[in-house]
Amino acid sequence: MDQIDYKSPPSPSKGLLQSPELYQYILETSVYPREPEPLKELREVTASHPRAMMATAPDAGQMMAMLLDLVDAKKTIEIGVFTGYSLLLTALSIPEDGKIVAIDISRESYEIGLPIIRKAGVEHKIDFVESEALPILDQLLEDPQNAGSFDFAFVDADKINYWNYHERLMKLLKVGGIVVYDNTLWGGTVAMPEESTPEHGKQGRELTIKLNKFLAADPRIRISHAPLGDGITICKRLY
Ligand code: SAM
Ligand code: CA
Repeated sequence: MDQIDYKSPPSPSKGLLQSPELYQYILETSVYPREPEPLKELREVTASHPRAMMATAPDAGQMMAMLLDLVDAKKTIEIGVFTGYSLLLTALSIPEDGKIVAIDISRESYEIGLPIIRKAGVEHKIDFVESEALPILDQLLEDPQNAGSFDFAFVDADKINYWNYHERLMKLLKVGGIVVYDNTLWGGTVAMPEESTPEHGKQGRELTIKLNKFLAADPRIRISHAPLGDGITICKRLY
């Protein structure tokens, strides 16, 4: 049996808009002209990677930068780094003394983006941890000073653990802090009958449907499920 891939949604394109021309219009009109040079470079370097699809969509990235700015984010968590598009975006958005705990089970892809991150002069803001994310979140929670101290989190890793991440993040984020979950439309399959979903997307579809119901029912957060990129769900901790 093929190994199930929790990380890559089945959609061949990054955008889910029904009109590819309209998506291109948004990118060309509003996203690319405002995309910082180092991010462009990282996107280009990533394009030749066999799993380039995993990188955060630039339109979703632009929304993330807006949110980071709106909450004056200084202390953040990133789960799922890959080559570092969303990480560099975060590092460029937070102040000089801001900090990102960036967790990925593999450092290999991060190394691809690292020279660009260094050149952009933001490496000092990043604390990269090569590990499964869950034990690191638990480790952070062991220090009482970390509880309620993070302004922002971006979760873009193994979908099967999103619930577990959410429970930890509800303790680590400050009230008013934001967590963004990526791929919450899973290539559009959440609204398709199971039979029409490609085999490799079925498990991701099921997990994403469950996650979406769970987030919609969680009274601790205000949510906005936005059809940017592959779908992002923006959650604000209310209490
Ligand atoms: N945010 C990244 C970007 O903008 O390019 C893309 C992240 S990619 C979709 C998912 C990443 O999650 C992969 O690099 C993978 O190694 C990592 N990952 C998968 N399972 C993980 C886990 N249990 N703990 C930490 N990282 C994990
Ligand atoms: Ca993603």
